[in-house]
Amino acid sequence: MEDVLVIGGGFAGVWSAAAAARMRTDNDVDLSITLVAPGDDLVIRPRLYEADPHLMRVPLDRILGPIGVHRVAATVSTIDTVHRAVTAVDADGRSTKWQYRRLILAAGSRLRRPALPGAEHLHSVDTVEAAVALEEHLRTCPPGPGRWTVVVVGAGFTGLEVATEMVGRLAEMSGPADRPRVVLVERADAVGPELGPGPRPAITEALDRLGVEVRLGQSIASVEPGRVRFADGTELAAGTVVWTAGVQASPLTAQIPGWRDRLDRLRVDEHLRVAEAPEVFAAGDTAAAEADPGHLVLQSCQHAIPLGKYAGHNAVADLLGLPLAEFSPAPYACCVDLGAAGAVLTSGWDRMIESTGEKAKARKMATNRERIYPPLDDADEILRVADYRVGVRPAGARI
Ligand SMILES: Cc1cc2nc3c(=O)[nH]c(=O)nc-3n(C[C@H](O)[C@H](O)[C@H](O)COP(=O)(O)OP(=O)(O)OC[C@H]3O[C@@H](n4cnc5c(N)ncnc54)[C@H](O)[C@@H]3O)c2cc1C
Repeated sequence: MEDVLVIGGGFAGVWSAAAAARMRTDNDVDLSITLVAPGDDLVIRPRLYEADPHLMRVPLDRILGPIGVHRVAATVSTIDTVHRAVTAVDADGRSTKWQYRRLILAAGSRLRRPALPGAEHLHSVDTVEAAVALEEHLRTCPPGPGRWTVVVVGAGFTGLEVATEMVGRLAEMSGPADRPRVVLVERADAVGPELGPGPRPAITEALDRLGVEVRLGQSIASVEPGRVRFADGTELAAGTVVWTAGVQASPLTAQIPGWRDRLDRLRVDEHLRVAEAPEVFAAGDTAAAEADPGHLVLQSCQHAIPLGKYAGHNAVADLLGLPLAEFSPAPYACCVDLGAAGAVLTSGWDRMIESTGEKAKARKMATNRERIYPPLDDADEILRVADYRVGVRPAGARI
C-alpha cells in the first residue's frame, strides 16, 4: 500500500512528489511516496524546439533521491479507482501492482497525430526522442530540391517557436550556396490563433523579418519523402515536415471517472481533487483546473509546476486531516520565442504585450534555461522550493 502514488515524471509529477515529501517532513510523519514513470529523466519539454534536444533533461534520481521519494521506471497501464489499485509494466515486461491511499495523476500530454497519407513521415518536437530524430533527419536529409525546406504545420505557440528557431538552425547546417526555406502552415486565418490579437503584430513582424513564409487558411493533405501536398492541391518540395498542431491529455484520464474537457483533461475542484474519485488528484497537462475565474489552466509548464505543488501538498494534507490549499497560480504571462527576432512577452489573459525583441528574449532565456529547472542533489533546497507558496526559482539560481 502506497500512501501517495504519483503517476508521471514531468514537471507536475516531480513537483507533486516533492511537495508531498515536504509535507511529510514538515509534519514529521512516516509516509511512503512513490513516483512511477517510464523514463529516468525529467524532460525539459519547453526546450525541445531548440538545437541539441538530447541535452534537455535532468535525472529524476537527483531530485527524488535526496528527498526520499521512491522511483519506479514503468508505464502505468491500468487505474482501478474502485479498488484503489494501479498496474504498471516495466521495460522487461514485468508487471507491478500497487494499492494507493492517495493517487496523483500527472501523466501529461501528447501530440495528436493526424491520420493523413504519409503521416509516418511527419516529424515533431513533442518528446526528446522525436526532437532528436528531427535533428538527425535535418542533418542527413537526402539531397534534392527540398533538401533545405522545412514545412511547419500549425502556427500556434509551438509551431511559432519551431519555425522561427528553425531559420537559424538551417542557416547553421546548410552551406553558403544553399537557400534554407521555412514555410509555416496554419488552418486558421491568422498566426497564433489561440494567442489572440494582442501579440500578433509582434509575431507577424518577426516572421517577416526572418523570412518565414506563412500560408494561412491552409493545411496539409499528404506527405511523402521530399514532398508535401496541401489541402488546396498544390505541392511543395520539402525535405522535412514538422507537425505541431493539437495536444491531448494522457489516455489514462479516461480510466478515472469524471468529466473531461475537449483536451481530455479531468475536471478537478479548487483543491485539484477529482470529485467523482475523491482519493485522486490531477496535476499538469491532465488537469482542467480553474486558474482564474472563467479561465482554465493551460497545458503549460507555467501551470504544471504550481499544479504539482498544490496536488502534492493537498494529497498529504488530506491524508493527515489538515486543511487543503486552494489552487491559486501566479498571474498568467506568456512568452513566445521568436528565434533571432527575439521574443514577445505578454501579461494577462488578453495577452497585452509587455516587451518584445531582446528584452523579451532575455526573459524567455532566463525562464527556459534557469527558472524551470529544479534544484538537484540538495534536499533542503528541493523541499523549500516544493512549497506551493514559492514561485519558480529566481534566474541565476540554476544548479
Ligand atoms: C516544444 C514544446 C514547447 C513548449 N513550450 C512551453 C513554454 O514555452 N512554456 C510553457 O509553460 N509550456 C511549454 N510547453 C508545454 C509544457 O512542456 C507542458 O505543459 C509540461 O511539460 C506539462 O508537464 P506535465 O508534467 O503535466 O506533463 P509532461 O511533461 O508531458 O510529463 C508527463 C510525464 O508522465 C509520464 N507518463 C506518460 N504516460 C505515462 C504512463 N502511462 N505511466 C507512467 N508515466 C507516464 C511521461 O513519461 C512524463 O514523465 C511546451 C511543450 C512543448 C512540447
